[in-house]
Amino acid sequence: MRIPLSDPVVSATAAATDLPRALPHGNRLLYDRFGRVARDLRVSLTDRCNLRCTYCMPEEGLTWLAKESTLNDDEIQRLLRIAITRLGIRQVRFTGGEPLLRKSLAQIIRTTKELMTDENVPPRIAMTTNGVGLANHAASLAKAGLDRVNISLDTIDPQRYHQLTRRDRLHHVIDAIDASVQAGLTPVKINAVIMPGLNEQDIVPLAEFCLQREVQLRFIEQMPLGPHEAWDRSTMISARDIIQRLSESFVLSPAVEKRGSAPAALWDVHHRDRDLAGKIGIIASVSQSFCADCDRTRLTADGAVRNCLFTRSETSLRDILRDGGSDEDIMLAWATAMWHKKPGHGIDDPHFLQPQRPMSAIGG
Ligand code: SAM
Ligand code: SF4
Repeated sequence: MRIPLSDPVVSATAAATDLPRALPHGNRLLYDRFGRVARDLRVSLTDRCNLRCTYCMPEEGLTWLAKESTLNDDEIQRLLRIAITRLGIRQVRFTGGEPLLRKSLAQIIRTTKELMTDENVPPRIAMTTNGVGLANHAASLAKAGLDRVNISLDTIDPQRYHQLTRRDRLHHVIDAIDASVQAGLTPVKINAVIMPGLNEQDIVPLAEFCLQREVQLRFIEQMPLGPHEAWDRSTMISARDIIQRLSESFVLSPAVEKRGSAPAALWDVHHRDRDLAGKIGIIASVSQSFCADCDRTRLTADGAVRNCLFTRSETSLRDILRDGGSDEDIMLAWATAMWHKKPGHGIDDPHFLQPQRPMSAIGG
């Protein structure tokens, strides 16, 4: 069986000789050369989206993947089964594009939840979503086996929401947050990206909004993954800028919780003037990268494994599937792709090049 690898330096021969031995029963763990083990799988269910966030895609959208090139439900379910029951994956996050646009989402969640990890329990299942339309589906998705959601929200000002997403859907997102809490998709986490000159003024209002609703806000540093003109290292709003802005209204102290492989550094916050307190996460993906603790592997909607958000090489599992490859062929290709994961994302390297795929097609 030929293993099609899009990175010419990775060959099937290297795979067979370099990789750690398979476990008893022929199962494998997704090790890389630096000792990290991937336990968290991010699956992009579609590259399409119903919003047009300025930092993610252009107003006219992108050239979407052709339907026949994307994984069908059977193919996704087969790859999920292999990942969870044979490759040591313990947590799955469905993302996109917008995962709610996949009609079979509940069914995919249901069949995923029926699988058993190497700890002999079902996988934890999370979803990252823009929340549009989620209010009507939160309860049924929870029933299907979804454990929790991250909802993206960069401002609570309706006009700025429209400006940032190019759509007027703020009320859908707020309803989605409330419905998710009610459905027990907890802890509900809110992802906010702050951009210079666009929504810096939203840092404190977003924090107040989330603390009032008892959902956990996480600020994410903007990464060079969207339209090229949307990111500039010299003006990027860093974790330090966010902490400074929060400090004007809150007293902050680092939370005692251990971070492990979680990307967010947690802060305990107490409002200076109001009876509001809780935790806020800050994900300093660019300024203080957490690559050394990364335990992620990613699967794109067209079935390519990516060992990092920022990699420029991919391994197509879809091609192996459609070539009649066995589970072992797929496992070897997946393990090989992960083995070659780099130690870090390299954004600060002067030779850094943005990946060819935009964030929405990678699965954030
Ligand atoms: N459509 C869903 C959503 O927006 O939640 C899921 C896909 S989206 C690509 C996943 C996450 O990536 C969102 O929280 C979004 O804010 C974040 N994101 C998109 N582009 C980004 C960028 N250039 N830098 C940092 N985060 C980004
Ligand atoms: Fe769509 Fe999410 Fe990208 Fe916004 S961040 S355009 S919601 S994929």
